[in-house]
Amino acid sequence: MIKEYQLRLLPQQAANESTLKDYLSHEEGIGLSDICHVRVLKRSIDARQRTIYVNIKLRVYINEEPVDDAYAHTDYPDVSKAPHVIVVGAGPGGLFAALRLIELGFRPIVLERGKNVRERKQDLALITKTQQVNAESNYCFGEGGAGAYSDGKLYTRSKKRGNIEKILNVFCQHGASTNILADAHPHIGTDKLPRVIENMRNTILNSGGEVHFQTKMTRLLLENETVVGVEAESQDSSLLTPHSSIFKGPVILATGHSARDVYRYLHASGIEIEAKGLAIGVRLEHPSELIDQIQYHNKNGRGHYLPAAEYSFVTQVEGRGVYSFCMCPGGFVIPAATGPEQIVVNGMSPANRGTAWSNSGMVVEMHPEDVPGESPLRLMEYQEQLERTCWQQGNMKQTAPAQRMVDFVNSKVSYDLPRSSYAPGLISSPLHFWLPKEISHRLQQGFRKFGSMSHGFLTNEACLIATETRTSSPVRILRDRETLQHVRIQGLFPCGEGAGYAGGIVSAGVDGERCAESVAAYLQS
Ligand SMILES: Cc1cc2nc3c(=O)[nH]c(=O)nc-3n(C[C@H](O)[C@H](O)[C@H](O)COP(=O)(O)OP(=O)(O)OC[C@H]3O[C@@H](n4cnc5c(N)ncnc54)[C@H](O)[C@@H]3O)c2cc1C
Repeated sequence: MIKEYQLRLLPQQAANESTLKDYLSHEEGIGLSDICHVRVLKRSIDARQRTIYVNIKLRVYINEEPVDDAYAHTDYPDVSKAPHVIVVGAGPGGLFAALRLIELGFRPIVLERGKNVRERKQDLALITKTQQVNAESNYCFGEGGAGAYSDGKLYTRSKKRGNIEKILNVFCQHGASTNILADAHPHIGTDKLPRVIENMRNTILNSGGEVHFQTKMTRLLLENETVVGVEAESQDSSLLTPHSSIFKGPVILATGHSARDVYRYLHASGIEIEAKGLAIGVRLEHPSELIDQIQYHNKNGRGHYLPAAEYSFVTQVEGRGVYSFCMCPGGFVIPAATGPEQIVVNGMSPANRGTAWSNSGMVVEMHPEDVPGESPLRLMEYQEQLERTCWQQGNMKQTAPAQRMVDFVNSKVSYDLPRSSYAPGLISSPLHFWLPKEISHRLQQGFRKFGSMSHGFLTNEACLIATETRTSSPVRILRDRETLQHVRIQGLFPCGEGAGYAGGIVSAGVDGERCAESVAAYLQS
């Protein structure tokens, strides 16, 4: 027999399958030995009151073995002889586009400027060791894109449940824990993502698709306002100089928000793009114990059964949103620049969210009209300028300028800094003085408000690390709402975050799938 229960439990009762079985046996009168399996269907934490509850929906298998239906399986047929489609970029947008193309019977040829996800890890380690960033292999470029060494939070504001569930199920099929199907705030963790991404690549290869690493698209091939392929530059390790190749087919362009050379190329080629609003600010890092104490209303912190606590703040200051972004409980702050003479910070956390710090982006909304000029690249140039200023303030290395939180709010220099997870190191710097006033003033006021909403949050134990500029794309590549093709150029399908139609792993994946469906319709018309 299978029965479902909707329960409100204490964290220790909801801790694992064994504690759930005990609960069901004591409270629901089911014989302990009769419970074959308990599957968690939905789980969320209610931390609004002093007593914390876990809201949980369970499917209980009583005297019956569970069927193997923990996730919905997708079939990937052999497409080695099928018409091919070029996918530029192997981030979540590109990978999900490639997998969906296979499902639909097309052969994806994936071009990725960076290295495979394992080799890429060595370049990430070198950032701290040498204080240098490899412009083709970093936290944004390489297999898995910005999603590979990201935090792996899989929640999205998008309301398209069916599409979102498909993405989560495909992740499970490629090795992610099925907990992501149950948790209100699903999270894979930066330590688990690379394996999942490798498995996705293997599905593409085993189905007859191709994946080319260290292969950078340099130009679109156009015939009568139709894209018929791309020219790409490949860095073959056996050759000293890169060589160029041609790949023919319609193009899904999923190059992410950091491929500034792609935006410059599109603009110079007269391919329509426009400036897009984004949010800019800093990473704020607290001791995770302090966030646990605040959010769980308990001086002892989270105890044994609760995860590292999350928070979310949002307010309006002088007509612009100021909010927390991409919160990483029990995580790290990382150097996410994509080239020399830049500092960009971001955050991530391992699956166990077990570090001594919790961080989030604290950002101020910027609209295109906030930056003077007409160029569609002006917000990108604003970002670039700020990242360069930050690098100069950081001693022209990856050491990031930082300031204690209360000192920043009071416009005071910090004489020392708290311990931080940011591996390349911090340098004390008056962020209140050199950050653009439209950002620093709003952050100061925003932090005062957040401090009054949450006692203990505004503290000098917390530290601001500059600068968080890559929250989304500063450019939108204009596409038709129905066909998802570029508004003028046929055969070009701008996709994912870099095209300005997604923000985050899941929405980039959903957009990738939609672009694949649109290319299929284009090829079949
Ligand atoms: C540290 C960090 C943590 C994050 N945490 C989260 C999180 O927890 N949850 C979440 O939802 N989102 C998170 N994000 C954001 C998320 O990773 C992105 O929204 C998502 O990866 C966007 O997917 P995409 O495929 O559109 O672009 P990207 O992931 O940026 O992928 C673009 C790919 O295109 C490649 N490329 C660029 N130019 C070319 C070219 N000319 N030729 C060939 N290839 C090219 C790049 O190398 C890259 O691999 C995080 C990002 C970072 C950096």
